[in-house]
Amino acid sequence: MADLPDPDCIFCKIVTRDIPATVVRETDRTLAFRDINPQAPTHVLVVPKAHYPNAATLAAADPELAAALLTEAAEVAADEKIAESGYRLIFNTGAAAGQTVYHAHVHVLGGQAFHEGLV
Ligand code: AMP
Ligand code: ZN
Repeated sequence: MADLPDPDCIFCKIVTRDIPATVVRETDRTLAFRDINPQAPTHVLVVPKAHYPNAATLAAADPELAAALLTEAAEVAADEKIAESGYRLIFNTGAAAGQTVYHAHVHVLGGQAFHEGLV
């Protein structure tokens, strides 16, 4: 549950800029960057800078930070011009849900093709 950087965590390394990512938004406590394998025209991940393994542990430890992810997701949607057409927020939690990176993150998915059910 520690919120310290995890040396083996890929999203911690993106937060510290040890590995590159296309960052679209940043606050003092959150970072938003494009998913490397986009599943929709807009596919951005919003993460807390602190390391929590999933949304549940984040929300239990720091509800304000969990809420900040949703605020930032909405800002990403506005920046990407998908706020009106609509977008989907996804938190995968655990292996059976397909979680592959164990640093809390919300997927922001949207865009025209996504909206039309093409992706
Ligand atoms: P999840 O299945 O919810 O754990 O999603 C993890 C997401 O992280 C996947 O959509 C990956 O494509 C994405 N991802 C993995 N490595 C990177 C990276 N280096 N930069 C950006 N996105 C990544
Ligand atoms: Zn991490």
